Amino acid sequence: MLTLKSQMEIQKNVDVTDLSTLRIKAVADHFAQPKNIEELIELLKFAKDNGIKVMFLGGGSNSLLSSKKIDSLLISTLKIDFIKEDINNVFDLGVGLKMPRFCGKMIHKSLTGAEFMVGIPGSIGGGLVMNAGAHGREFADIFVSAKVLDLETLEIHEFNHNDMNFSYRSSVIDPERYCVLSVKVKLEFAEKEEIRSRVASYNKSRTTSQPLKAWTCGCTFKNPQSDYPAGKLIQDIGGKELSIGEMQVSDVHANFFENTGSASSSDFIELVSLVQGLAIEKKNIQLLPEVQPIGFFTEDERKIWLN
Ligand SMILES: Cc1cc2nc3c(=O)[nH]c(=O)nc-3n(C[C@H](O)[C@H](O)[C@H](O)COP(=O)(O)OP(=O)(O)OC[C@H]3O[C@@H](n4cnc5c(N)ncnc54)[C@H](O)[C@@H]3O)c2cc1C
Repeated sequence: MLTLKSQMEIQKNVDVTDLSTLRIKAVADHFAQPKNIEELIELLKFAKDNGIKVMFLGGGSNSLLSSKKIDSLLISTLKIDFIKEDINNVFDLGVGLKMPRFCGKMIHKSLTGAEFMVGIPGSIGGGLVMNAGAHGREFADIFVSAKVLDLETLEIHEFNHNDMNFSYRSSVIDPERYCVLSVKVKLEFAEKEEIRSRVASYNKSRTTSQPLKAWTCGCTFKNPQSDYPAGKLIQDIGGKELSIGEMQVSDVHANFFENTGSASSSDFIELVSLVQGLAIEKKNIQLLPEVQPIGFFTEDERKIWLN
């Protein structure tokens, strides 16, 4: 173990299996959990000075951790979970704050805009990077600005909407280049009952259509076309019957892959690759994973992310 000036610890060989919603067995060579932005910046400077590669994990709900190795400093942002209220319903948010928690707090204030976050088990940082969305709304809709640290130069920049290049489940933030430090969002006043009923209907639609108790990372693939969701496509090509090792396509929602016990990242990749092959063979459609790789994957394994 290594201790930095602020007394923050960098631990070695840490089992990080429980930090991802897929629960794939994984160990990080180095691991740290800063409690605030100052500690996070100290950590990033230390890593740069010592030539150590860094990787970030928020809620771990869209990440595939490598079972082979995570040969870097894995930083969990979950403790950086502040909410600071600005003027005019603008909020400055810690990147580790869970999106459903933020949504819950906003309901109490009769503020609308964050309802889409209610069933997305990720952090503000992960939500921004992925431009997370649901029910026709996405992160970009409420985004004002973000403080990001450039990992090459260690300079801090303020990105506004134009800088973010938002598109479907994508933003300009490449975690190999930038660390998001904090995010500002803006909401609007609305009737509390109206917000509550919207949230209730979103919750209901998830509980009936998604395997919420299983170990998954939500949708495995991005929708190839807005009018042909990946789940429907996988069902159409007979994907609901597929499994590799202890990783299987969910019979509740075919775009969710479930770890039924001790699946490895290789099982997950093989299943993704099998489904991608079938989608090409039967429909001539290229499926691209929404889930992001964390750690070491062979060149062959990385092919599932190439388009
Ligand atoms: C049951 C379930 C339902 C889901 N439903 C939805 C849905 O409806 N809509 C949707 O869009 N997604 C959904 N998801 C997927 C996931 O929750 C979202 O993509 C979410 O935004 C990921 O946030 P996270 O904090 O978990 O990200 P993580 O998995 O922790 O990280 C995702 C990526 O962001 C990077 N990252 C995280 N924090 C930072 C930071 N501070 N700086 C730089 N990079 C960072 C990571 O390195 C990684 O590359 C679902 C997942 C599950 C398990």
